[in-house]
Amino acid sequence: MRFIALSVTLLACSAVACAQSRKAVFIITDAEGVAGICRQSQTEPTNSEHQRLITGEVNAAIRGFIQGGASEVVVWDGHDGSQTLSVLTIEPDAKLIHGSLGASMLLERGWAAVAFLGQHARANRSPAVMAHSYSSLGIQKMIMNGKEVGEIETRAALAGWFGVPVIFLSGDQAAAEDLKAIVPEAEVAVVKEAFGYYACMSVSAPAAQKLIQQKARESMARIGQIKPYKIEGPVTLEIEVSTRSTLSPQTSYQPGVERAGPRTLRYSGKDFMEAWTRYAGR
Ligand SMILES: [Zn+2]
Repeated sequence: MRFIALSVTLLACSAVACAQSRKAVFIITDAEGVAGICRQSQTEPTNSEHQRLITGEVNAAIRGFIQGGASEVVVWDGHDGSQTLSVLTIEPDAKLIHGSLGASMLLERGWAAVAFLGQHARANRSPAVMAHSYSSLGIQKMIMNGKEVGEIETRAALAGWFGVPVIFLSGDQAAAEDLKAIVPEAEVAVVKEAFGYYACMSVSAPAAQKLIQQKARESMARIGQIKPYKIEGPVTLEIEVSTRSTLSPQTSYQPGVERAGPRTLRYSGKDFMEAWTRYAGR
């Protein structure tokens, strides 16, 4: 009898339902949206002030998600080669990922939700602290289906492709606005106000951690209410590179990729994933 009851329970739990009851949260970290980070030199991954500040914020988010009902929290050290966070200092109940993750960024793993911590706004947003799209040295502008985008929009779309909502972001007011523009119901922790690219007013580290923990906890209640951000139909992704990466007219490209100008490559796909993979999986 006990065996039968167990079998019914297992059968009733489809892959999607199990993923949701598992309530695993995937945190993607970055540097430029952390409270108190306002100069380029502070974003060096081995800068000890930066390491202490971001570790405090990551741990606050982990505590908040667990208090809100997360069964598992996994953190990807997403800034500059994963050299910032350490398993010595993250909350004991979380797991830490180092290294580059490829085009799908592990978003196919059945997460209940994705969270952006320490996130900056897309390139060309102003005022915004160190706003850029993936590479401040290599990329001037990213355009997806005619709109300028950055990490927030493309990663939210990638999560959305796998049916996962973005429920939380911490960063400056510009990053918060960028996420709110595409996921209005997400919880945001605004830890600093940008006056320029290298100018901001930040709350203290303890105040940032308190706010992040509270918003992370509250965001857990929104899983199920927040729709994954899905881009429907064909997608073009145009990448305008910097002058030092000016494209050679002689270069030939893979199908779906073309040179659209002296410094612009266009990646096209029948859907988001095809265009994204042509860009990020190259
Ligand atoms: Zn970034």
